[in-house]
Amino acid sequence: MLRALTRLFRATCDPSQLDLALDVTPPRDAEELLGLLRELGLARIARCRLTRNRNVMVSFGGGELRVHEGYLTAPLPVLRAIVTFVEGRTRAERRAAQRVIVSHPIRSARPQERRDRTHADDVEISEKLVAWHSRYNSRHFHGRLKHVPIRVSRRMKSRLGHYTAGTPLGEAAEIAISRAHLRKHGWEEVLHTLLHEMVHQWQDETGHTIDHGATFRAKAREVGIAPYARRVLATRPGRAEGSQSLGRRAARDD
Ligand SMILES: [Zn+2]
Repeated sequence: MLRALTRLFRATCDPSQLDLALDVTPPRDAEELLGLLRELGLARIARCRLTRNRNVMVSFGGGELRVHEGYLTAPLPVLRAIVTFVEGRTRAERRAAQRVIVSHPIRSARPQERRDRTHADDVEISEKLVAWHSRYNSRHFHGRLKHVPIRVSRRMKSRLGHYTAGTPLGEAAEIAISRAHLRKHGWEEVLHTLLHEMVHQWQDETGHTIDHGATFRAKAREVGIAPYARRVLATRPGRAEGSQSLGRRAARDD
């Protein structure tokens, strides 16, 4: 059945038709999804796991592919893009695939992840950061970045900050800065982190992938911050080489 469907997909080029056809029998679980992705050319993956972490869409490493459960109902071009994300030969090819993957709106049965709120005592810090965001925005981004809420997090212990993109379903974008980071490293470092997260915001708002790749490094140099992340959150350390992950969040880590 699956094979027949795939042949049908390959024979036609109209994406709307593909969607329609796939709606008939979307994969119901990780195993069926893996089967379908293999039909589409996935070769180097042995296992597939469905996740519910709303900040990571697709990641792979060590022969395992982890896909957000929201992709079970994704249209074929999106599933194809997942295959290209894993198997793509060129960077350009993989980048194009990433854009297709993140454009798919995730619908999860679970309620949205609850964000903690800025502690009352930290509101002043948050307001100061918002003022700096606006200053940096006109200084480095022609004032084109959107206003985003900046949360001061007391929960964030190992990470310094992060930028989280909004979702097509209406969850707002945000920047979060670690309170512990401010305590330990001081205001100057926090401003550095803020600018780092603003480069991610810029990536997001200009249609780039949120990562620490070449685009990030070039823009970071341009705005005068260190062109690296101490640890790329989206790539899990200690995993097999070639491990990659694609999500809507990037963080600057300690
Ligand atoms: Zn970062």
